[in-house]
Amino acid sequence: MDKIIDFQNTEIAFASKSNSELIRARFLFEILKNKRLVNFSNKLLQWALALKLPVEWIIKATVFKHFCGGVSLIHCTPLVEKLGESGVYAILDHSVEGQDSEEQFDQNTRLIQEEIKNAASNEQVAFAVFKPTSVGRLETFELLSKDPTVESTEFNRIKERYFLIGETAKALKQPIMIDAEESWMQASADELALALMEHFNQEEVLVYNTLQMYLADSYGRLEAWIERAKSRNFKLGVKFVRGAYMEKERAYAKKMGIPSAVCISKDATDQLFDKGVALAFENTERVSIFLGTHNEMSTEKAASLALKTFGTLNHPNIWFGQLQGMSDQITYNLSHVGASVAKLIPYGPVKEVLPYLIRRAEENTSIAGQTGRELKLLRAEQKRRSS
Ligand SMILES: Cc1cc2nc3c(=O)[nH]c(=O)nc-3n(C[C@H](O)[C@H](O)[C@H](O)COP(=O)(O)OP(=O)(O)OC[C@H]3O[C@@H](n4cnc5c(N)ncnc54)[C@H](O)[C@@H]3O)c2cc1C
Repeated sequence: MDKIIDFQNTEIAFASKSNSELIRARFLFEILKNKRLVNFSNKLLQWALALKLPVEWIIKATVFKHFCGGVSLIHCTPLVEKLGESGVYAILDHSVEGQDSEEQFDQNTRLIQEEIKNAASNEQVAFAVFKPTSVGRLETFELLSKDPTVESTEFNRIKERYFLIGETAKALKQPIMIDAEESWMQASADELALALMEHFNQEEVLVYNTLQMYLADSYGRLEAWIERAKSRNFKLGVKFVRGAYMEKERAYAKKMGIPSAVCISKDATDQLFDKGVALAFENTERVSIFLGTHNEMSTEKAASLALKTFGTLNHPNIWFGQLQGMSDQITYNLSHVGASVAKLIPYGPVKEVLPYLIRRAEENTSIAGQTGRELKLLRAEQKRRSS
């Protein structure tokens, strides 16, 4: 059977990149290929930043430039416009992690509301997005995940922040997505997300929650979510991802002396991912799907299910997304065949984005094949242009 998407078409994938941008990207991925160098540089940069040495410019000129949109919302505008010229949407993600004061959480809530307004006023920005721990402490989510009956003023404030965000989304009819984080805090975060969906996803899907399919119990969770959406009569928005915290999950399981929550193998994760997406496609009268993945096989399978279910790739219930700086062969070739596709663009001051950048660097060195694939495509396009 003919493929729906030609992931090998580098001309389309890199049409918006100049020759010098290709050289820079290739240089970066050549470095990311070297695991020891990446680990060493990560440690060195964190140490240098802690000592307030002037190294921000190095990060800004390399990984930040490749994977981020800018230091503030407004600085992302040129990138958003450039993506728009190729029919690709943007999702702007204020990438702060590890904060722990109530003032910061309130401030972040206001910022997320600003992002919703920005998205609503710019048709190139498809979704607003936030992390649970940008509006509350991880330990509070963890506590309520272990015992949902605990009375917690902090958790009540988190709930209020979630609903403030939901109200803004509702007032502006702007869809929002909630990220997923560590498994040990997800149960309470999922409960809040479901409460938000029950309240705001009555007529249309305004709220999407993220499901990490690398979790061994993810399929069961999805079944329970769908069941709840049916019995309480609301619509479900699901952002499917594999999961970005594998090393942390392993370390946590080891520390606690419990089995890891993550599937035993990559193959098992892949199977769960595709099985979960297939279940969502069986329930599209209730479920809207966002596929956050760089996996060509899963993307092709989902595109095929979308064509079978809707007769078109351009349907409001199916979205695709990749991270800025990765897998352009998927993003631009999907857009070329008419699918709705977005780049997730982190932004923020360099220091605040650093944990995200370190995750990307580690991911690109640890995922077998990811960096190799990026390099192969970049080399192929350079060769095509010079021939
Ligand atoms: C738009 C978008 C939004 C995202 N939002 C989130 C989010 O909210 N939360 C989040 O956690 N991540 C998020 N991610 C990241 C995502 O979870 C993955 O880390 C990343 O996309 C790589 O997975 P993949 O499907 O793209 O590619 P692949 O290369 O096919 O898969 C790599 C992934 O497979 C899994 N894996 C690898 N080895 C093993 C193994 N030995 N055993 C079990 N599983 C294994 C891991 O999850 C790894 O990241 C997002 C990604 C995108 C594109």
